[in-house]
Amino acid sequence: MSIECLADYAVPADATWGRQHEEKRAFGRTEFQRDRDRIIHSTAFRRLEYKTQVFVNHEGDHFRTRLTHSLEVAQIARSIASSLKLNVDLVEAIALAHDLGHTPFGHSGQDALNESMEEYGGFEHNLQSLRVIDHLELRYAQFDGLNLCFETREGILKHCSLKNAAELGDVGRRFIENRRPSLEAQLANVADGLAYNNHDIDDGLRSGLLDLVHMSELPVFGEHLRSVSREYPHIDEPRRASEAIRRTVNSFVIDLTEESDRLIREARPTSLDEVRKLPELISFSDEMEQKHREVKQYLHQYLYRHYKVQRMADKAKRVVSSLFKAFKEDVGLLPPRHQLQAKTDAPRAISDYIAGMTDRYAMKEYRQIFLVDPL
Ligand code: MG
Repeated sequence: MSIECLADYAVPADATWGRQHEEKRAFGRTEFQRDRDRIIHSTAFRRLEYKTQVFVNHEGDHFRTRLTHSLEVAQIARSIASSLKLNVDLVEAIALAHDLGHTPFGHSGQDALNESMEEYGGFEHNLQSLRVIDHLELRYAQFDGLNLCFETREGILKHCSLKNAAELGDVGRRFIENRRPSLEAQLANVADGLAYNNHDIDDGLRSGLLDLVHMSELPVFGEHLRSVSREYPHIDEPRRASEAIRRTVNSFVIDLTEESDRLIREARPTSLDEVRKLPELISFSDEMEQKHREVKQYLHQYLYRHYKVQRMADKAKRVVSSLFKAFKEDVGLLPPRHQLQAKTDAPRAISDYIAGMTDRYAMKEYRQIFLVDPL
């Protein structure tokens, strides 16, 4: 995006607070375009393809993975950023990187790892995303990590305890000072929730765990479903569902854009510094926020707690906890690079190793360690 298209409350295209390690400016790219490119070329980004969103990768080829989820978040966030004249490249970089720290097997993997790490500082995927880009990617001769701009790193760190904030230095400061991040970071965060609510409806229906008739009572989606049925009474169920989801996403996107635009106009920030001092300005209207919450609750009740999803989640927890325990009892089971890291902090080294695993790699490790005949 060219500089003149940006609003004065956006993060300027080439005015970053800098990188942790000094580097020459990139040729032909803005600093945030360079960040986005580094993220796309990272190993952690490629692993997202084989990490669960709700359904484990081998359960079907059409379900969302962490990778397609991240791409959908980036797509939604980019189009809203463009309407609000925000920095599209920064929004995209944050959206593509926001889940890099996710464990295998979605939230059940994270819960299990957090439990295993309880005595050693815990595990939180959001903090882990920052660890991945700051330390764990080993691709550059000059430094560990991807050496991303402050604004990208700050956007990835959505939430954080005060204790962790104090240890994190510059990116943690805003939590201590009670300041907001850029509007680009706020947008990537809201777009995350918007994307997963809607694609989980899609995946839930595709899997047969959610029922289209039952869902006609759901706010927004149900209303669109009924109007699609009225307008196109003869189309088949999958098409009716897709059309209703498309319209649902659109209503949330329009509401988020209009309400955020209204809040920005009302608060009239004229710089990023002013944005930081104001309350969050990227928001749904109260009415749509309520509907968004209701959809989330519905998904919790009927999809995430469905016994078939729970069975997989339970199995996933067992794989993660057992791997942690085995490595903790004998760090000699870790591959050499991780053994080296374990010399300074064994629990964190194990946690980093497990968090980096894809679903199938974790299952392979489990078979290799626990089964006598791994075939
Ligand atoms: Mg996400």
